[in-house]
Amino acid sequence: EERDSLLFQKMAATGRLVRTLAHEVRNPLTNINLSIEQMEVDFEDEDAKFFIDIIRRNSQRINDLITELLNTSRPSEVTFSRYNLQEILESTIEQAIDRINLKNIKLISDYPSDIWIDVDKAKIQIALLNIIINAVEAMKEGDGILKINATQRNKSIIVSIEDNGVGISQEHIERLFEPYFTSKNNGIGLGLAATLNIIQSHKARVEVESELGKGTKFIVTFTLAS
Ligand code: ADP
Ligand code: MG
Repeated sequence: EERDSLLFQKMAATGRLVRTLAHEVRNPLTNINLSIEQMEVDFEDEDAKFFIDIIRRNSQRINDLITELLNTSRPSEVTFSRYNLQEILESTIEQAIDRINLKNIKLISDYPSDIWIDVDKAKIQIALLNIIINAVEAMKEGDGILKINATQRNKSIIVSIEDNGVGISQEHIERLFEPYFTSKNNGIGLGLAATLNIIQSHKARVEVESELGKGTKFIVTFTLAS
């Protein structure tokens, strides 16, 4: 509980910093872009065109990065409807099934068919898919076991996704949901940042239990409105 709310506070503070910084960078960038447009009209010289093009492309790149940063730091906008949880889980698993099969991972799923939940379906599928893909990526080919469970206890709906993969060190657990945190060579580190954003906008929570060399369990808990 304690650690969770600290993490949320930290994320909220990071989000504000990122948004402020992004807006501060965007203003001068707009001036640069306007100048480039004018230069493209004014300068005919091939050499000048060459350099203007470099400036234009790089300025575009900064702009794209800022857009991406803002998208991940902003609270996600959600539209809720009532869905059957089994259907949501099954269509999410379907999106990962090729990767699961490619690694010969054994999938063990267990969830009742009668749980109904108010969510933004597309968003919650992205959130769960990011967790599932990480689990798949953490497991070795051939002996991976992926367990996906859901249960309802009173007003809580609990979805858990468990793998027997590499596990996460304590040091890394603390940084898991930070944008751009990745331990992978070709990772981007935006998956879990997006997941946390979506889960928070559902007023749900996510917890992680992990042991190095043994595996990891992500637990997402939704609370039904009374
Ligand atoms: P990416 O997958 O691009 O690295 P994510 O935000 O999805 O970014 O994940 C961040 C990091 O969290 C991963 O690089 C990895 O170190 C760690 N991680 C997430 N899920 C797991 C898992 N199931 N097992 C081991 N490590 C994990
Ligand atoms: Mg990922």
